[in-house]
Amino acid sequence: MDKVKVLFTTSEAVPYAKTGGLADVSGALPRFLQEAGAEVKTILPFYRQVKETKKKFKPVEGGRLIKYTLGPGNLEFSLLTDGKTPETIFVKNDKLYDRPELYRDSATGKDWADNDDRYITYSIAALLACKETGFKPDIIHANDWQAALSLAFARTVFKDDPFFAEAHTVFTIHNVAYQGHFPKETFYKLGTSPHLFYPASPFEFWGKVNFMKIGISYADIVNTVSERYAVEIQSDPEFGHGLEGVLRERNADLFGIVNGIDYDDWNPEKDTLIPQRYGPKTLENKKKNKAALLKKSGLAGINDPLVGMISRLVDQKGLDLFAEIADDLLSLKVKMVVLGTGDARYHELFKELEKKYPKKIKAFLTFDNKLAHGIEAGADLFLMPSRYEPCGLNQLYSLKYGTVPVVRETGGLADTVEPADETGERGTGFVFTHYDSAEFLETIKKGLALYGNKAAWKKLQLQGMAQDFSWHSSAVKYLDLYRKALAKEPVEAV
Ligand code: ADP
Repeated sequence: MDKVKVLFTTSEAVPYAKTGGLADVSGALPRFLQEAGAEVKTILPFYRQVKETKKKFKPVEGGRLIKYTLGPGNLEFSLLTDGKTPETIFVKNDKLYDRPELYRDSATGKDWADNDDRYITYSIAALLACKETGFKPDIIHANDWQAALSLAFARTVFKDDPFFAEAHTVFTIHNVAYQGHFPKETFYKLGTSPHLFYPASPFEFWGKVNFMKIGISYADIVNTVSERYAVEIQSDPEFGHGLEGVLRERNADLFGIVNGIDYDDWNPEKDTLIPQRYGPKTLENKKKNKAALLKKSGLAGINDPLVGMISRLVDQKGLDLFAEIADDLLSLKVKMVVLGTGDARYHELFKELEKKYPKKIKAFLTFDNKLAHGIEAGADLFLMPSRYEPCGLNQLYSLKYGTVPVVRETGGLADTVEPADETGERGTGFVFTHYDSAEFLETIKKGLALYGNKAAWKKLQLQGMAQDFSWHSSAVKYLDLYRKALAKEPVEAV
């Protein structure tokens, strides 16, 4: 087969714009797909964050203003490129994308009211960018709700356009809790036949519009970012967030591929963002990172176990469970460093804990990539008590950095962390099953007990560091997924 041509649509990607794991995946996967034999173009909105990287971008086709009429809307944008291989093309419309945050207005804490318009324009622009550059995709691979319409538009608005006639569609769910719900009026902006809004049609979800449902419906193949999560999201509303029925209908076409991590960025042997590099053979050097992290945090006690946490501070990540055990945990002989931003009540929680236990905990309530590396390198244990976790990246970084993860047995955490036994001979971390604070605390205590046994602890660290979650094997699995999509009759165009 010729090189499969992949249009990769996503709303964030490192090194340009990031709010979470989707950006890590979208920054790395296209490179590894390309290495594995695909030809990939990524399309991103030209956000303020992208501008602020101060990287060089060149206009596509002289930067001409592209105009497109979609239903009642007159869309306008121009295109820029980073000129790299694989290439990223940016959709520039400052009115829509030049804002302080990607998805929400931090002044109100609410999503941007015109997020439907922002991602409708983005999705149309992604397809038009292909035409503009003569890149005829075999696969349109959309990620999460923001990019979902790129699949539907290829089969509706462009259904008579031979340019996309051969394109097959793949939709990856990175987190089913974020679906892009909009009022019925949004449907009329999509430029499709008005008859398509009927109960249980791809465009209708309880009388409203749900972009993720549209993506799932127009994908030849659907996947999510771990095998366990692929099963969970079909099981009940707690995991499926209302889409469990829609997902069950796609059961035969629904797969799980665990995310890889980019060992060029996250590898303690090469990491330029940490004070002291180390690896399995020089594990004693990890302590220098611990000392530096304690110093930065204004804490002391190099021999006490140092517990780390890096997280969006939201319920999904198990923050309510953490709140229940915080006093008990901080009464033990431990130190703790937290990095995160999110819900105001969790900011308050950490501020209070800092006041109450100034010698035990430091919380950095900000977004700081360098510090994230510093915590992975400096901490002894890492907490991820998630309520649900599509894949999770920090536990994978933790394994590589010899920072033993304590995780709840859900989604990608269940697939990637193997429970340790009491001797440290087997396993890579500490795992608890129920979403229960007592179980969480007991599991941390097991970890702390093993930390007291230096030889056993070192074995456990080395077992974690020996795990291989590189993108190479996951990229090959994505190529298989594309083959499956190409072999299918395309989901019927309407
Ligand atoms: P999610 O995408 O649900 O937030 P993941 O574990 O998949 O969770 O990915 C989170 C990514 O964002 C990781 O790369 C993590 O290091 C990073 N991250 C989260 N919060 C912060 C923060 N406050 N500062 C720096 N990096 C952060």
